[in-house]
Amino acid sequence: MSVEKLRKLLLLERKRGYKNDSVIGGFDKFVLDFIDRTVDFKKNELLKIFLNYNSLPLEKRKEVISKAFEILDEVKLNDNEQGKEEGEVKRNTYSETSVENRIKLSDLFTPVQFVKGVGPEIAKKLKKLNIETVYDLLYYFPRAYLDLRNVKKIYSLKNGEAALLKVKIVSVQERKGKLNIVSVLGTDGTGYIVATWFNQPYLKNILKEGMEIFLFGKVQFSYGKWEMPSPDYEIPQEGKELINTLRIAPVYSLTEGLSQKILRNKLINLIENTGSKLFDYVDEEILQRRNMVSLDYAISNIHFPQSFESLKKAKERLIFNELFELQYILGRRKHLIEESEGYRFVIKKEYIDEFNALIPFELTIDQKKVIQDIIDDLTSGHPMNRLLHGDVGSGKTIVALFSLFIAYKNGYQSVMMSPTEILAEQTFKTASTIFKNTPIELALLTSSTSSRKRKEILEGLEKHKTDMVFGTHALIEESVKFAELGLIVVDEQHRFGVLQRGSLKEKAIIPHTLVMSATPIPRTLALTLYGDLNVSVIKELPKGRIPVITRVFYNEEELAYRHVREELDKGHKAYVVCPLIEDSESLDAQSVEKVYERLAQNHLKGYKIAKLHGGMSGKEKAQVMEDFRNGKYQILVSTTVVEVGVDVKDATVIVIEDADRFGLATLHQLRGRVGRSNLQSYCFLITRNPSKDAIERLNVLEKTNNGFEVAEFDLRLRGPGEIFGTKQSGLPDFKITTLVGEMDMKILEIAREEALNLLSGNTKYDPEKLKEFYKLLSIKYKNKIPLIEVA
Ligand code: ADP
Ligand code: MG
Repeated sequence: MSVEKLRKLLLLERKRGYKNDSVIGGFDKFVLDFIDRTVDFKKNELLKIFLNYNSLPLEKRKEVISKAFEILDEVKLNDNEQGKEEGEVKRNTYSETSVENRIKLSDLFTPVQFVKGVGPEIAKKLKKLNIETVYDLLYYFPRAYLDLRNVKKIYSLKNGEAALLKVKIVSVQERKGKLNIVSVLGTDGTGYIVATWFNQPYLKNILKEGMEIFLFGKVQFSYGKWEMPSPDYEIPQEGKELINTLRIAPVYSLTEGLSQKILRNKLINLIENTGSKLFDYVDEEILQRRNMVSLDYAISNIHFPQSFESLKKAKERLIFNELFELQYILGRRKHLIEESEGYRFVIKKEYIDEFNALIPFELTIDQKKVIQDIIDDLTSGHPMNRLLHGDVGSGKTIVALFSLFIAYKNGYQSVMMSPTEILAEQTFKTASTIFKNTPIELALLTSSTSSRKRKEILEGLEKHKTDMVFGTHALIEESVKFAELGLIVVDEQHRFGVLQRGSLKEKAIIPHTLVMSATPIPRTLALTLYGDLNVSVIKELPKGRIPVITRVFYNEEELAYRHVREELDKGHKAYVVCPLIEDSESLDAQSVEKVYERLAQNHLKGYKIAKLHGGMSGKEKAQVMEDFRNGKYQILVSTTVVEVGVDVKDATVIVIEDADRFGLATLHQLRGRVGRSNLQSYCFLITRNPSKDAIERLNVLEKTNNGFEVAEFDLRLRGPGEIFGTKQSGLPDFKITTLVGEMDMKILEIAREEALNLLSGNTKYDPEKLKEFYKLLSIKYKNKIPLIEVA
């Protein structure tokens, strides 16, 4: 803490008898500069008393020092951050910029060429790093840091270590040839070192005898000499701040023609002119409450940290920003929906009895609970806005059908959307069976529906001749008009993003919405992806389910297929999943074609086998699925088209060829295709040349059937961006948040709380700051969040 340092200075001056010589060059000059640079509190008062220190008699000087101590005591009362060994973490490093002169982030979405020193050439290169605006450059954070705070002495070097040296150049030599070598002999007084650079002949014009330079790189001791091949160097210049040395230096991801030095240089300028003068759009009250640093501090320290402690505070603050923004948007959307009018459905007991009589089984306790949540939503007078979460096979479809049924009973149309055609067809079939003896008019609309049929369906929807329509999400991308759309169900939500969630609802005056997902995710992540939804969960599987037995086979395919034959001979069915449709020259993996041939001629000779893959038309696929369901085929060799939701009860075994080629989440989904009845089912994972990682992954599946555990493991292994894919998930393009690890999770909770505080009016947000916050949101998330109209 600067106050502590100042106190030490004063003590020393007192000890030496107020002679103004406690600092070489004059205590008074030093202390004035020190106060000017580091003290905010009562700064002017302190400066004033030291101004003519040198011309005062000793007696008066004594008084000045005493007065200074008094002021410092006050400062102490006002300062709760005490000195840390690591360095000083102050809330406002650049507080001398007045509020009016501060720069707003929302004004920085201008071409990066506006940055001093960035011409068209550099701009072109920056574009390769996806840096197009001034904002992008400011938010281009380092991927790592180098601790270059301490200079080493040559005599203490250890062979192979990376070290920073300060040497005086003794001689410069150039060796010309195929390879141009410039070498420099330097000394720091404790030893000599030879630094060499290859094919950079211009260096001999820069590095001159007698010059003092910093060298950074790996050192080698060979033939009795210290050497440093291709080091970084920096030449200190009078009056100029060192950029690459004597600090914690940022390390950026680079592209051709953009060196670390150039990027650091541009950034240090940008931070000096802009980053250190940023207007903070987060309210002071929140920053105080959460003990967070200011925005200018965070941006300055994420690039050029004063200490590792400062870096940590900077990271915390920047992660907070990203999560606070997202949580605010999600929370606001939730509020908007909750405050909107919705269709107030009436739900009589006889509707429920009627539905129960239509279905072939008794609902589980969890299913009943979820149905109660849905009943509460539908009768509230506000739009339902709910996520139904349940592992594969937990029985979500029937809950969806209940909701559709209630909409029908209230005279409204409804739509159920699935991520694939196969699933849309399957749900349509299930619904058709259940509602067979009712007057409900159902329709199926997919991209393979004939145009004549399609026209008929669209007309039926517009005139309310059709009550329920099933289809893929292509359904809403086109101009489907409903007479009275009361309810939307979206199955397997993780396939759709926040974006689609928005566009869906724009079709009507916010109809009731139920989204369903089988992707098990930790609570914190759920808050991020689904923070705008109310959540219901189905935990228990329907009664009588036997856990699927999973086994990994290394190269022992015949052994696996022997088990498959046993299952087929019991009258059961099997899936075989392959990574590719056809053989590929570039990818060495099993294809549907190859495996089909192999099984037909060898392992499963004599059994009825069909192929299914994404290259087939919708009609063909539907026919194959139908034939597989009704027993014309016993084995379905396919790509991952069967991944989600396909429900064939007597399929009891799934073989996954080259299982190491698939992600854990996909494998778990695939496994969910079996074990859908009270028959013992199996999942066989065949792998040929697995990596160590792959073996670890596959073993997770052998150990657990619990989707949540699988997901946790996956999350740790790959991070959420990888798993959900930014585009699919609607997860925003975070610059620093990873959502993995303690720190992010903790900040997420805080950010959520603060966003809700703001939404409910519990934080008196500064109006100027709020304006900037809204403006920033509307720029950063434009087009992404249709339902958020920002003032
Ligand atoms: P998911 O949640 O993966 O979408 P489904 O809705 O497809 O699961 O249900 C899986 C299977 O369980 C289906 O065959 C369905 O008919 C059956 N099922 C659903 N609920 C029950 C229940 N309460 N009792 C028995 N079987 C059920
Ligand atoms: Mg399903």
